[in-house]
Amino acid sequence: MKHLTIAELLRRPASGEEVVVKGWVRTKRGNKNVTFIALNDGSCLANIQIVADPSAFDEELLKRVTTGACLRVDGRLVASPGSGQGVEVQASKIEVYGTADPESYPLQKKGHSLEFLRDIAYLRPRTNTFGAILRIRHAMAYAIHTYFHERGFYYLHTPLITGSDAEGAGAMFRVTTLDMNNVPRTDEGKVDYSQDFFGKSCNLTVSGQLEGELGALSLGRIYTFGPTFRAENSNTPRHLAEFWMIEPEAAFYELEDDMELAEDFLKYLINYALEHCAEDLEFMNKMWDNELLERLHFVVEHDFKRLDYTEAIDILKASGRKFEFPCDWGCDLQSEHERYLVEEHFKRPVILINYPKEIKAFYMKQNDDGRTVRAMDVLFPKIGEIIGGSERETDYGKLSARVEELGINKADIWWYLDTRRWGSAPHSGFGLGFERLLLFVTGMTNIRDVIPFPRTPKNAEF
Ligand code: ATP
Ligand code: MG
Repeated sequence: MKHLTIAELLRRPASGEEVVVKGWVRTKRGNKNVTFIALNDGSCLANIQIVADPSAFDEELLKRVTTGACLRVDGRLVASPGSGQGVEVQASKIEVYGTADPESYPLQKKGHSLEFLRDIAYLRPRTNTFGAILRIRHAMAYAIHTYFHERGFYYLHTPLITGSDAEGAGAMFRVTTLDMNNVPRTDEGKVDYSQDFFGKSCNLTVSGQLEGELGALSLGRIYTFGPTFRAENSNTPRHLAEFWMIEPEAAFYELEDDMELAEDFLKYLINYALEHCAEDLEFMNKMWDNELLERLHFVVEHDFKRLDYTEAIDILKASGRKFEFPCDWGCDLQSEHERYLVEEHFKRPVILINYPKEIKAFYMKQNDDGRTVRAMDVLFPKIGEIIGGSERETDYGKLSARVEELGINKADIWWYLDTRRWGSAPHSGFGLGFERLLLFVTGMTNIRDVIPFPRTPKNAEF
């Protein structure tokens, strides 16, 4: 007989048909006349109720059915008289695939704290909360590919191992096969990377953008969607050492087009979640953040406010607010500033543009004023920066001068500079941190709770 998932079974009518259901026990209760088992297989938030007549089963078998155990149940799909579910399974046969000793299985009760669950991250997908988060995560990944595919953006796989550290987006993780106990040295006593696997010093990428631009300048519209690595030693609730990033890059897009794309994309994703993850989102709203659904609707229904960095600084200075960090012209905005603009001043998402060139990457297009660049950050309630992007500098001379000014090694990125020598074209793009998006969509507040296996300082156990 075909095994159906619980999500599939719960959508079926109470036909009395014979079914097979497999999953993990959430709870078992009842009395000597009847046993109720709530079974969950991860396919959806809801459990299916298994009803068993204890006199029809071996007592020893039923004893092994405890919270966390894995079962196969054969039975009939019938109407459920209990509230909360349309159908239940009247069990005729139960097989225990794997027991879970109640003395040691950590997920006995409901309502564990997120901190506790972080310590047992290898088991937490079995909880309602992490089941919901991981299903939403899947839905968002699917929606991202759909969005770009339908708009003619090609999925480009950029390398994870990179020989350039020019992006400057964060500290990098080294990739090497040199023997750490016997590192080869040059005559000057430096590490001799010519003997390393790639014959040069290599790192894990912090962003796929530079290679993404090569894609845009040949395929027109591309996007990347892959892991990126930053040795952020900051331990904030918004930073991971390994996170996923989505980076669209499009030829012939100017800053305005980039802003359009970013706003439309974010609204599409949030709408998609509201439409396809309703059950999980309602659960998150009830359990963790009572304003979640309201906030999601709010974002899709309002235009994002667009303004210049310089105007934002004026607003922050005029606010009379005491911020922890300074907000003078030229400062990089901190999330307290970003959240003030979004949550208190404009009360809607904000797209800030034209940042001082000193605080932005070398590849951003320089404005005629000589002091700002065509950067664009999208700021969201509760999160702060969710997207960072820009129109790119297309002029070989200007780009090359900026690279020199910043002391970036041209030998590392000559191939990137070459794109501006042959058929240079206006183009723009941005990076969306996948987990920042998920923080927003799930209402979670710690980025460690929206990725299955978080990588943070001193934490790579599982
Ligand atoms: P932040 O100021 O928050 O560190 P950033 O300016 O370093 O961000 P970018 O280099 O512009 O970020 O990266 C693009 C996007 O990647 C950001 O908008 C954010 O959504 C996400 N992001 C950046 N660093 C991290 C991180 N360590 N963990 C998770 N997401 C991140
Ligand atoms: Mg950073």
